[in-house]
Amino acid sequence: MFQIGNRVVRRDKPGEVGTVMNVTPNVQRSPEFTIYEVEFPSGRRIIHGHRLRALYPSCEEWQRLLNLCQRASEIYFEVVSELADAAEVVAHTEFELLQRRVAAAKELRRMAQKLLTEHSAKHGC
Ligand SMILES: [Zn+2]
Repeated sequence: MFQIGNRVVRRDKPGEVGTVMNVTPNVQRSPEFTIYEVEFPSGRRIIHGHRLRALYPSCEEWQRLLNLCQRASEIYFEVVSELADAAEVVAHTEFELLQRRVAAAKELRRMAQKLLTEHSAKHGC
C-alpha cells in the first residue's frame, strides 16, 4: 500500500512519475483496489492500486530502463521545442532536418517505453 507523498508510476505508462496526494481504502480493504489520487506532470488522476507501482523497485534493470525512458522523453521535448522556435526563422532544409530529429527522438522514446513495459511484464517487477 502506498502512503501520501509516495512517488509512484503507472504500470501501463511507466515514463511518468507521480506523487500520491490522497488514499481511499476500499470497503473490502484489498490493497489492489485501494483508490489513489496521484499528481502526474500531465495532470491529477484517480487510479486503483493494482495499476500503480513504487518508483524505486529492487530491480536494477527496471530502474535502468526507467532512466532511459525519462531521458528519451526529455530529449523528445527538447527537440520539439527547438522545432517550434525554429519554425519561422530557419531555412526550409534546416527545418526538415529538425523535423527528422523530432521523429527520431519520438521513436527512441517509444522504443524505451516498449522495453520497459516488456521487461515489467516478463519479470513481474
Ligand atoms: Zn525486473
